Amino acid sequence: MAGSEIFGSEEIKAATDVIERKMIHRYGSHDIRGGIYRAEEFEAAAREISGAKYALALSSGTAALITALKGIGTEPGDEIITSPFTFIATVEAIVACGAIPILGDLDETLSLDPASAERLISPRTRAIMPVHMFGAATDMDKFTALGKKYSLPIIEDACEVVGGTYKGRALGGIGDVGAWSFDPNKTLTVGEAGMLFTNDRDIWFKMDCYHDHGHIHSKEHDRGAEGKFGFGVNYRISEIQGALGTVALKKLPQALAALRAAKKKIVEAGEAAGLTPRPMHDAEGDTASHVIFILPSAEAAKKFQKAAKEAGSGCGIISENTWHYAKHWKALEEMGGKEYFGGRTPSYAPETMTQAEGLLSRAVLFGLNIKMSGDEMEKMTAAIQSGAKAAL
Ligand SMILES: *Cc1c(COP(=O)(O)O)cnc(C)c1O
Repeated sequence: MAGSEIFGSEEIKAATDVIERKMIHRYGSHDIRGGIYRAEEFEAAAREISGAKYALALSSGTAALITALKGIGTEPGDEIITSPFTFIATVEAIVACGAIPILGDLDETLSLDPASAERLISPRTRAIMPVHMFGAATDMDKFTALGKKYSLPIIEDACEVVGGTYKGRALGGIGDVGAWSFDPNKTLTVGEAGMLFTNDRDIWFKMDCYHDHGHIHSKEHDRGAEGKFGFGVNYRISEIQGALGTVALKKLPQALAALRAAKKKIVEAGEAAGLTPRPMHDAEGDTASHVIFILPSAEAAKKFQKAAKEAGSGCGIISENTWHYAKHWKALEEMGGKEYFGGRTPSYAPETMTQAEGLLSRAVLFGLNIKMSGDEMEKMTAAIQSGAKAAL
């Protein structure tokens, strides 16, 4: 799903233009930049897709998640409920704020189960952070209701699902705050960047200031003379990322169409061979970056994987995925069961994740590319058929 495969002359032109004008900073120099603000154009394009009132570009998805947590007022010792099946950045963002990650169970779509999130709510809970993994939405209606019931903000980690939807609404634009990523492994990339969305002016203002050393951004004043709001960091993007991002978002419909067409063919071949695709809360909104089949048992998944590999197309078993499953994160396990900013961390021992393990050990995963050759498609299909034959 790496978006650099669709780089072309448009990106070269967009980046070159910024370099030729020597106007690399997204803020300041208002009198000499000719009214050109590429980062703002990127934000405007993203905002339009998201349907949210405010969009803020940041230097990475991780930076976006940290800034989102700061924006809703997360303090050291607060608890943030999230999923054990996510990229480690979700948990790193929580830890970077001195907050405590609380990991829930998964539902049958491999998303954070809203019922398990509700059971984990405590007086220390500051937010719930569902993660839309590998293209598919979590149960956002239930999370929205949960947020209302307990007056807790819902932060969508939508880093992997730029362009994905849930009941017609853009992922990232539904929760109190939502984050996208444009890192080199995502559907669209600008090298590195993230994007935040919110409808809340106060949250937006805090995030906007925090991500740039507390600057209160204004075009009325020179940079440095605009006033400050608290401490911040530097999670800005440059005008080059802004220019590339605007081009990338123009290519989003074509990228999604290609991924969805490829996925449809592959899933149909799998179903014809008797396989069960990962169920989804809204299959229409799937970004189709991955194909997942759920096997009847962990043993069957292993057999599937072996046969698929022999047929020429490797697949992963998600429970073995060291990037995306908390069971494998030593740093997390080491912080388990300790005093922590006046709170206490739960045990993050792998044995505590048996519910997730039961699902993820049965899930086999193929990644798709925007540009897939006929040969790649045939190989993947043949591998899936061999896998099914061996496993079912
Ligand atoms: C990629 C990703 C992130 C982090 O994004 P970066 O831009 O790489 O920092 C966060 N959460 C999830 C679920 C991701 O897949």
